[in-house]
Amino acid sequence: MKKTVILYAPIAHELRARLEQEFEVIFFNKIDQNNEQQFLAALPTAVGVIGTGIDIKGDRLAKAVNLKAISTISVGYDNFDVAELTAKGIRLMHTPDVLTDTTADLIFTLLMATARRIVEVSDFIHQGHWKRSVDQSLFGVDIHHKKIGIIGMGNIGQAVAKRAYLGFDMQVFYYSRHRKPEVDQQYQAVWCELDQLLKEVDFVCITLPLTKETEHLINQEKLSLMKPSAILINGGRGKIIDEQALINALKTKQIRAAGLDVFVQEPLPMDSELLQLSNVVLAPHIGSATFETRYKMAELAVENLIAALQPEKPKKNLVNREVA
Ligand code: NAP
Repeated sequence: MKKTVILYAPIAHELRARLEQEFEVIFFNKIDQNNEQQFLAALPTAVGVIGTGIDIKGDRLAKAVNLKAISTISVGYDNFDVAELTAKGIRLMHTPDVLTDTTADLIFTLLMATARRIVEVSDFIHQGHWKRSVDQSLFGVDIHHKKIGIIGMGNIGQAVAKRAYLGFDMQVFYYSRHRKPEVDQQYQAVWCELDQLLKEVDFVCITLPLTKETEHLINQEKLSLMKPSAILINGGRGKIIDEQALINALKTKQIRAAGLDVFVQEPLPMDSELLQLSNVVLAPHIGSATFETRYKMAELAVENLIAALQPEKPKKNLVNREVA
């Protein structure tokens, strides 16, 4: 008899068929308050789950008494309690690499849109205000030959550095736990302390995971170190920034502007003060959201789950390597 897995995200027909070759698949398009009870009722039957966008910890995890593997269709895994999973012997698999370039593209898109005020000028035309050449009130700032500071020089950070250095002749600074000699060499990058980076650069890009150490890493004190002309881009996770401190810094023009793909609460509540500010460009957590990349992520997550549940297969994308 086939083992049962729960698929809780819409994936391509042929990828779902691949899962069905191996497992009995219980499918949910997404989990919300309408089907949460059905999801909880299915959890005890599952040896594996695959999907994205929800937490599986605490009460949910307690229901999953037969669970051996979780395959998240994402590289970030801050919605899981890795220590709790490890203690229970549950493998956590994720999808690094396949989304790196796409996410770096989005981060650079936000950087450029924020520097050149693309949303504001587009609205300006839509609202019928374009009667003559624009004046300084709609000028942006240069990107090329400026200084970029990348916080978190991992896969995505390096792909941002590549775009900045090779495409825009930018000077690259970075802050990461470890120095990366190959990055220093390839992009003439400078590894420095966070405070020094914040004081020095024109664009600050966050490409970090959310962890206990990185939560609120960028707070009021850190924002106050940035130049008033600087722009902050967040492509990591919302909670890495103290969002209220950022709102205050944007309101008072302590920094010039921000481009944000991630937020403390997602979807962003309609009463968020961020929606009142013109010097912020917002994206609804779309770093990896292209047809091609979301397909590759789902494909990898399917293979990850199959590998995680077959003792003989190598577990390449295992997060908690302590689980044998
Ligand atoms: P990665 O290759 O693991 O890189 C993460 C980097 O963060 C590493 O270089 C690591 O430093 C650094 N880091 C971790 N903790 C740190 C700390 N306390 N202080 C300083 N540096 C620290 O991961 P990735 O693939 O680049 O992805 C990074 C994150 O981006 C993900 O975890 C996810 O949250 C986010 N993401 C967002 C989207 C989106 O849609 N916006 C899409 C994909 C990913 P060392 O290498 O020096 O150890």
